[in-house]
Amino acid sequence: MAVQFRDYYEVLGVARTATDKEIKKSYRKLARKYHPDVNPDNAAAEEHFKALSEAYEVLSDPDKRQRYDQLGADWKTGSTFTPPPEWEGRDVDLNDLFGAGSGRSGFSDFFETLFGARRGSRAGAGFAMRGQDSEGHLDLSLEEAHRGGVRTLTLQTVTLCTACEGQGRRERTLCATCHGTGRVAHHKTLEVRIPAGASEGATIRLAGHGEPGTGAAPAGDLLLRVRLRPHALFHVLSDGDVQVELPIAPWEATLGAKVRVPTLDGPVDMTIPAGAQGGQRLRMRGKGLQHRHGRRGDVYVMLRIVVPPQLTEQERVLWESLAAASPFNPRAMMPKE
Ligand SMILES: [Zn+2]
Repeated sequence: MAVQFRDYYEVLGVARTATDKEIKKSYRKLARKYHPDVNPDNAAAEEHFKALSEAYEVLSDPDKRQRYDQLGADWKTGSTFTPPPEWEGRDVDLNDLFGAGSGRSGFSDFFETLFGARRGSRAGAGFAMRGQDSEGHLDLSLEEAHRGGVRTLTLQTVTLCTACEGQGRRERTLCATCHGTGRVAHHKTLEVRIPAGASEGATIRLAGHGEPGTGAAPAGDLLLRVRLRPHALFHVLSDGDVQVELPIAPWEATLGAKVRVPTLDGPVDMTIPAGAQGGQRLRMRGKGLQHRHGRRGDVYVMLRIVVPPQLTEQERVLWESLAAASPFNPRAMMPKE
């Protein structure tokens, strides 16, 4: 099949002797200029951008560049090109090989004549494209979320296969490293900075740790959604408020008392007023969770009156004399039928 020759050096504006660095530099400069994002609804710029991506795809890859250079320097852009008879690369239909069916690359017929069609999953991605964001969960204890800090995470991530540079194949055979997917999974360790006051559902963004990009484009981001683990003592309310249940003795409720109450920053003294009731909630302002914008929530202390499960002989005598002496009848407060 005759196609139009493309002079990739001319497209990138570099000499045939250009170094990898010069090629990369020129591509970056031109790609920024013709990027669809800065040229909306400009078909000519888009064509130019695709041509740049294609030229860079070839000249940035030593194998492809070498094969391309074999054609010699005499070809001019637009001249009718037929690959030399001994040329390899067209007798295998890569779409069949990958079972992709739909796989036009978005690159020119010239490119496909030289290097074969590309994988179907990359169809239409004929220019550099930022990788997708990936998502995950980050389970935190209440203390970690409250104080913030650094957590080391081990993640399974996917990056472009370096053996085939994400092409899924080397020459005409499947890449043995990635089995044709162009991606490899491996473990990586990340230090995640947890902001003080991270709340349930908050998102921590790790720039550049998402899916790898296509071509020279950057990777996406990794978004970690915070999940708070249930806490043995504290129940999280909204806006940084927490509730803690505090057992107290009947005489502490009756007479009032100074007691120690646990908070996320350690125990704090609190006064229980005389005549406190079970189920009553006392508020300690600003002792709750660190909240956004430097605010802090409150701690609600829910009182629970607990009686001694066993009595000493002396206690029994005291309770009996209290029962005999007290005129208090709690049922007198009940509504009448
Ligand atoms: Zn590979």
